[in-house]
Amino acid sequence: MHAMEPSCNMAWTVAAMGKWKREVIVMMLLLLISTTIAKEVRKAKGGRHRKRHSATGGQAIINGTSSNSSEAYCLSWRMAVEANNMRGWRTIPTECWRHVQGYMVGGQYYRDINLIIDQIYGYLDGVTPLGDGFDAWIFDVDDTCLSNLYYYRAKRFGCDPYNPTEFKTWASKGESPAIPAVLDLFNKLIQVGFKVILLTGRDQETLGEATVDNLLNQGFVGYERLIMRSPEYRGQSAVMYKSEIRRQIMEQGYRIWGNVGDQWSDLQGNFSGDRTFKFPNPMYFVP
Ligand SMILES: [Mg+2]
Repeated sequence: MHAMEPSCNMAWTVAAMGKWKREVIVMMLLLLISTTIAKEVRKAKGGRHRKRHSATGGQAIINGTSSNSSEAYCLSWRMAVEANNMRGWRTIPTECWRHVQGYMVGGQYYRDINLIIDQIYGYLDGVTPLGDGFDAWIFDVDDTCLSNLYYYRAKRFGCDPYNPTEFKTWASKGESPAIPAVLDLFNKLIQVGFKVILLTGRDQETLGEATVDNLLNQGFVGYERLIMRSPEYRGQSAVMYKSEIRRQIMEQGYRIWGNVGDQWSDLQGNFSGDRTFKFPNPMYFVP
């Protein structure tokens, strides 16, 4: 028996080691499987995050928590637009349709304009026009004096791309309402002696009459000039066209005390004026 003991022990040891090895292999396999699953889960979560990021411009992550809010994204998008950090865009993101609608018709748009106009009155309190007939103030027309909100409501507040033919049809009706606070400012400026010049990219030949009628029927009476885009300026960017017109205005001896528009291209370029005031417009971009 003793002679047999070593071989029995050896057989037991080999069997035990075989069992131990199997257990180690099983454990290693389980560990490998769980690690792989964890990796795949992380990858899937990251993929969803990246997909969301590329589709919407990103989730809001504040203090390590993700709000995953389309509303938060659209607010950031609108801020980027107004700060002129986003340029050359043709349509608003479809997911921001309701956000922009809420902004435009829910009261905040007019509150923002009223606040800007308060700033204009504050600025006017601190300046002394010379009163020689050359104190000029420039207004843009579309979505500065006259509102195209009714038109853009049918265009999903800018989700649909700009259609020049359809916009011309709308503008030809001469039914764009005044922005009330702007009309008040317009009248006040004239009353205190400013020469108000309306400078618009609207086409003179096709929209001249309708624009004059529309301004009149909304109460914009007493302006110095309405300058529209004549054929020689067709195809020019708004920045180039408006800069050139302002150069001519100043060459004629006017001082431009203020310049108000809803597009950065109303205010950029040369001879912009002593102060510029940008109205909000999250619905379209004019280069
Ligand atoms: Mg405009």
